[in-house]
Amino acid sequence: MSNCTLPNRSEVWLQSLGWQPTAEQEKQFERLFQQIVQANQQLNLTRITDPSDFWEKHLWDSLVGIAPWLPTESSVQRQDGFSVDSSQSLKVIDIGTGGGFPGLPIAIVKPTWQITLLDSTQKKLTFLQQVTAKLGLENVGICCDRAENLGQQSSYRESFDLAVIRAVGSASVCAEYALPLLALQGYAVLYRGQWTTGEQEGLVAAISKLGGELVAVSPVTMPHSQGIRHCIYLRKIEATNPKFPRRVGVPARKPL
Ligand code: SAM
Repeated sequence: MSNCTLPNRSEVWLQSLGWQPTAEQEKQFERLFQQIVQANQQLNLTRITDPSDFWEKHLWDSLVGIAPWLPTESSVQRQDGFSVDSSQSLKVIDIGTGGGFPGLPIAIVKPTWQITLLDSTQKKLTFLQQVTAKLGLENVGICCDRAENLGQQSSYRESFDLAVIRAVGSASVCAEYALPLLALQGYAVLYRGQWTTGEQEGLVAAISKLGGELVAVSPVTMPHSQGIRHCIYLRKIEATNPKFPRRVGVPARKPL
């Protein structure tokens, strides 16, 4: 186990998201951090193992994407005007979860949500299985497959209320993975770094073929490093054409 512990940033959570974790959730974050640092000695899960960086780039960054679903202080207004009913229990998929981000922090703060962690690499998923057992997270399921395959399986297609996807591909590739998996009126959150008008035009063209619409683009400044991120919110408004997602590898090779 690492002797380093995560910094206490209760005030930063409150100021930046208008929300803060409970004492038990803070303990779960710490357990998650310790497990990841330990497993990282054998598995290449993440480059981010410094406690302060882990807090910001894995915990805070994972949760800023679902900020619209966190119960916030009424004094904190979202700049993008995007709002949802934060009290509902959602069925969520984290596509290309890797070391469990953003899915695991979401599972910790949203115990009533059912979270499926999807990745094509079994090694990482075996670790995630152990971590969820150690943390007692009963709301997490693990799935080893490619998003292109899952999106064509009737038991998964059009079945999720929310899809989250970080660092898996270009925005239109992420949209082709996520939209077929969403139920009508479901949302996808694309976690992006810099965001350009060219990317936005490409994404809007792609989602018009996939039954989606762009709901909001939220620029966020990271509270510690001041890095810039963008959370892109999509909504599914029509059934996705059965030809999407295309065969394994095609979305990345020939983005829409
Ligand atoms: N989302 C995590 C994060 O932000 O820390 C991990 C990002 S990692 C760079 C990309 C992950 O996506 C890898 O674990 C890879 O195996 C997975 N992946 C890439 N393409 C995929 C696909 N088509 N279906 C399922 N998983 C995929």
